[in-house]
Amino acid sequence: KYFSQSTSVLDTLLRRRQDMIQAVDGVSLTLHENESHGVIGESGCGKSTLLKTLIGLHEPTEGQILFHGRDVSEFGRSDWKEFRSNVQIIFQDPFNALDPKMTVKETLLESLKIHGMDDRERRVEQVLKRVELQPPEKYVDRFPRQLSGGEKQRVSIARALIVEPDLILADEPVSMLDVSTQAAILNLLSDLMEDVGASMLYISHDLSTVSYICQEINVMYLGRIIERAPTQELLDNPRHPYAQALINAIPIPDPHHGRERTTLEGAPRDPIGLDQGCRFRDRCGKRMDICEQMPAFVEVEDGVETACHLYYDHEEHVPASDAMPD
Ligand code: SF4
Ligand code: MG
Repeated sequence: KYFSQSTSVLDTLLRRRQDMIQAVDGVSLTLHENESHGVIGESGCGKSTLLKTLIGLHEPTEGQILFHGRDVSEFGRSDWKEFRSNVQIIFQDPFNALDPKMTVKETLLESLKIHGMDDRERRVEQVLKRVELQPPEKYVDRFPRQLSGGEKQRVSIARALIVEPDLILADEPVSMLDVSTQAAILNLLSDLMEDVGASMLYISHDLSTVSYICQEINVMYLGRIIERAPTQELLDNPRHPYAQALINAIPIPDPHHGRERTTLEGAPRDPIGLDQGCRFRDRCGKRMDICEQMPAFVEVEDGVETACHLYYDHEEHVPASDAMPD
């Protein structure tokens, strides 16, 4: 289901090479049109590396990145040019994402020019309305220093949207904003995703933010996706002990809503020299002998996949190495 290439916007499968330190290992995900998926995990779990790999800043040692069904490693110059306008990034830091010497209008016009798009004046006005910088004429001639953090992030979003991308990669886009601004930007993003018709991969350490925006969530731990589920399913019924710990860390509005508590102790393992066992086992209260072996990433229910021996059918003796979705 996740790998029907004809409809997928983005497919990636990255695997390890034994002699290298792996920031991202065996990560496999597919994003279809108009879907917003999240990747969450602690800092250093590999989410930024994943993002950089997706846009070609890192070359995967193994595996493939497919965009609209085509392998990006076979892209020529013009394919890359098209890819760069089709895939837009919204960065974490709105304070550094904009050129301080360019006005809002110049920033947006430049984006249109780079991507060879016409009808520029009208597009600038339209996109500013869309990100609710109104009236547009109030903002066009401002420099970044004349904008608040939230306004700057709206300009970054406008710059991404103005070239009508198929895919938006968002890297912690609200984490540097104050709480009330975060809510406004999240609302905006969620509305925009509904009517722009783009797909989004939203990367964050903050589960509550991701669950607000995304229909499906991938939980990463030390370079691997250890759980993937539709958002509500993940919140209601996390399987992997690490996913349970993340959910437990979110304040629960309803105190009667029972959940099995899982506490998270200790720090992640040193990523250098990771062996084949479960990477979470040092911190896992449910650790068993079998956890010295890498757990398979298996579908435990319709649309829910997890990598934990608690959910693995050992009767069937499926080797863990065969369990990566392909
Ligand atoms: Fe815990 Fe074992 Fe599951 Fe890893 S595989 S999360 S150590 S129970
Ligand atoms: Mg990061």
